[in-house]
Amino acid sequence: MERILNQVTVLRRRNMQAIRGKNTAPELAVRRELHRMGYRFRLHASDLPGRPDIVFRRRMKAIEVRGCFWHRHSAFECRNAVVPKSRREWWLAKLGSNVERDRRNLEAIEALGWDVLIIWECEVADAGLGRRLATFLGFPTSVKGNEKGANPHRKERQWLSV
Ligand SMILES: [Zn+2]
Repeated sequence: MERILNQVTVLRRRNMQAIRGKNTAPELAVRRELHRMGYRFRLHASDLPGRPDIVFRRRMKAIEVRGCFWHRHSAFECRNAVVPKSRREWWLAKLGSNVERDRRNLEAIEALGWDVLIIWECEVADAGLGRRLATFLGFPTSVKGNEKGANPHRKERQWLSV
């Protein structure tokens, strides 16, 4: 029984990842870039509105990496954001509710005092990505000890290396 329940949990988690777009290739690319630049961060903070992908708690900054199709990047700027011609009304409603949810979550997290940088899937390969991240975040903390020093109760295992 327990094994079956575990399998259900695993399946459900996988399904949620697909729907919510967690750990997608564009997100992994941004995480790799941040890590290369020396930033340390946490992932998918479930205590914050919208469970932002990448979280910098001390800075109160978060990064969301959004798929252009599912989150409707501007159709003027992005050819990935085209709504399918068949079942068009259904898609418009479906994608529209995603956009609405994104907007509500963004408002809610900003109301808590957080800054959020949104990176669209089609922007991940831009040459200027690193500069954009650095401008948003400020200097990386070069030594792990600095961050640990800021909060001695923080547990080492909470640091994720990607
Ligand atoms: Zn796009």
